[in-house]
Amino acid sequence: MDNTKCLDAGPNEDLECVVCCYEYSHTHRTPRLLHCGHTFCVPCLDKLANVDGVIRTISCPLCRWITCTAATQTLPQTLWVNAEIWNQVAEKEQRKRRTDRKEVPLGGLNKKPMRPTFLDSNHAVLKSAFLKMFTAHQQRLPAS
Ligand SMILES: [Zn+2]
Ligand SMILES: [Zn+2]
Repeated sequence: MDNTKCLDAGPNEDLECVVCCYEYSHTHRTPRLLHCGHTFCVPCLDKLANVDGVIRTISCPLCRWITCTAATQTLPQTLWVNAEIWNQVAEKEQRKRRTDRKEVPLGGLNKKPMRPTFLDSNHAVLKSAFLKMFTAHQQRLPAS
């Protein structure tokens, strides 16, 4: 049997654990990589794990590869997060959050009270004054 052929999960199944069929999340069902390269959620890995003394073995349900980890450490401490899935979950959760925030008004736009008449009549004067200040400041900079 060829173990390298086992990375064949379709793109649609990527975001859910093939054992429990639940979608991965950043909190409870984090996607973790076994040493064979297959990814499962932490609750399923916990169920698959066999602890024997200080060794925890997890037999991959897809390819039967046995992953050994230290039983003294938790699964999240010993197994890598599948970053690809993690990032896709992040995008999904961010999109969800963005739509939730729709009704929140944009901050910062109304911070300055608008005085259009003042600005219009003094715009050129202000601009040249500002430019003078700015260039003067810049010229002073290297001296300090
Ligand atoms: Zn699962
Ligand atoms: Zn596997």
